Amino acid sequence: MTGTVYKSTGSWYSVKNEQGVFYNCRIKGKFRIKGIKSTNPIAVGDSVDFSVEKNGDEEIGIITKIRERKNYIIRKSVNLSKQTHIIASNIDVVFLLVTINNPVTTTSFIDRFLVTAEAYGIEAVLVFNKIDTLDEVALDEQLYLQAIYSEIGYQCLRVSAKEEKGIEALKALMQNRVSMFSGHSGVGKSTLVNTIAPNLNLKTAEISEQHKQGQHTTTFAEMFDLHFDAKIIDTPGIRGFGMVDMQPEELSDYFPEFFALKDKCKFNNCLHKEEPKCAVKEALDQDEIPWSRYQSYLQILEGDEENYRQNNYENE
Ligand code: GDP
Ligand code: ZN
Repeated sequence: MTGTVYKSTGSWYSVKNEQGVFYNCRIKGKFRIKGIKSTNPIAVGDSVDFSVEKNGDEEIGIITKIRERKNYIIRKSVNLSKQTHIIASNIDVVFLLVTINNPVTTTSFIDRFLVTAEAYGIEAVLVFNKIDTLDEVALDEQLYLQAIYSEIGYQCLRVSAKEEKGIEALKALMQNRVSMFSGHSGVGKSTLVNTIAPNLNLKTAEISEQHKQGQHTTTFAEMFDLHFDAKIIDTPGIRGFGMVDMQPEELSDYFPEFFALKDKCKFNNCLHKEEPKCAVKEALDQDEIPWSRYQSYLQILEGDEENYRQNNYENE
């Protein structure tokens, strides 16, 4: 049988087959996937083959094969083993909730998120929430941000989870797909998901201040079916994406508007910093690339160069 992993709790997996029946599944023996050093071989969202065995009165599934993943998101383990934990896989779209105020979502946060989504190969959509609260100044800012990101090619939605505005457009983007929601604490993720699917009580809401970073929190992602043919993956405790490891030269590939200009730079390994005849810098001077994007780029680049150096020293 073929099925999709909806939940994983250590050694057991809840797998739904194509007829909609759930099986408790295990894996037998060692299950290694080439190229990935992870603490968990199977993750929520995985498409697997399994056989069914009788265990007394109970039927249990034995996972025999995992289908190739379209994408997956990981979390590095806190200890030094350098192992990674695969949080979820086969995600079609991730919605980043953005609020102008209460809380403030900075362009730096948005850009880091988008870079990571690009690196993972997951479509990202910006959802501006709490539009009911915007005064004139905040509205200007919201529309300005929306213009920046739409121009780059990111789809943007304006919603009010509280007043249930813009929800149909969001639901349309979720239909027949696997979605995830992300964003700072307080942007309205729980409120929004409750508006979309009133009977679903996601754990997003229960993650409170006690789970500040640095603590060991076990994350059990879980997939849910919504009534309108949409699937949602809940990842309690994860608000952002973190950053994935990449080479400095690679970073601008994940800024689509920089990537589009890359071939026009004089040097093919241009970092778009001090190099002469840099098409990205020229576009910046012409106001064709927003300053905020370039600033985020430099911030990530500098942070990454630091990480990169540190990692290299560590290995020496
Ligand atoms: P989460 O931490 O992202 O899950 O955020 P919550 O869903 O808990 O929302 C945080 C606060 O923002 C709550 O007091 C919500 O009532 C409020 N909130 C959420 N969405 C909206 C909205 O569209 N408009 C307004 N005015 N408040 C909202
Ligand atoms: Zn350049």
